[in-house]
Amino acid sequence: MILPENFDFTQSNLQDYLDCPYRFYLRYVLHTRWPALVVDDAQEFELRMQAGAHFHRLAQQYLVGIPAVEISQQAESDPHADLHTWWSDFLIHVPPWLKGQRWVEMTLSTRLGGQRLVAKYDLILANEVGGLTIFDWKTSQKAPRKDWLLDRIQTRLYRLLLTDASPALVSGEGTEPEQIVMNYWFAAYPQTPISLPYNKAAYERDRADLTQLVERICTSEAADFERTSEVRRCRYCVYRSHCDRGVEAGALADFDDLALQPEESIFNTAFEDIPEIQI
Ligand code: SF4
Repeated sequence: MILPENFDFTQSNLQDYLDCPYRFYLRYVLHTRWPALVVDDAQEFELRMQAGAHFHRLAQQYLVGIPAVEISQQAESDPHADLHTWWSDFLIHVPPWLKGQRWVEMTLSTRLGGQRLVAKYDLILANEVGGLTIFDWKTSQKAPRKDWLLDRIQTRLYRLLLTDASPALVSGEGTEPEQIVMNYWFAAYPQTPISLPYNKAAYERDRADLTQLVERICTSEAADFERTSEVRRCRYCVYRSHCDRGVEAGALADFDDLALQPEESIFNTAFEDIPEIQI
């Protein structure tokens, strides 16, 4: 195996592999740093990323019980005007949904194909009959289609991992996939989250597909990590000049169309530093 020892698979690096195996190879095997912009408007992009990260911190503080009035003062001091709207919409719409026991910024891990997979959840809620609801906050400017979200590694990994981890969270034998729901809350559409209920058939499919994916990556040689044939993916990839796929960054205005979330890079954290429940 050419992956570093103790490599953790995450939704972010698995999605990287699916988008472009060669990007995965450069980023996680060779650790290649390449000085290029992700989008054309670097300054606004940076502000957006920072505002997204700030919003997640505000939501976390609220969910662990810090008074909303204190958090709102922090929101008002942020230079990105969107954050003020996101935060006031959060306070209007989200609190009525927060019934039940909650786990905030929880990391869970499991093993598939002999490898560790980890996921960090913005919020998990347990209701009184053992059902579990995942909330994931997104600050992108557009909401993607439901079928696109259903296909994302994040959706598939988070629901599967929570099903497996449920005995550690709720009493009894754990939670059936049918009692698990993943809700994506988009700040741009705050009234209703995009709700993705789980089921046994999807669980079995996710388990088989993710196991196969992890095994494929682990048994790949360097030459197996091929460049994507979808060149549109290269527009927002920092390695595009390295790969001779252009030098100009893609337009920030189109960035959300590919639904590349700033949060994905912000929260691609060092999981070994995070307390977790192992299953
Ligand atoms: S520039 Fe394109 S081919 Fe090269 S790593 Fe990025 S996505 Fe893959």
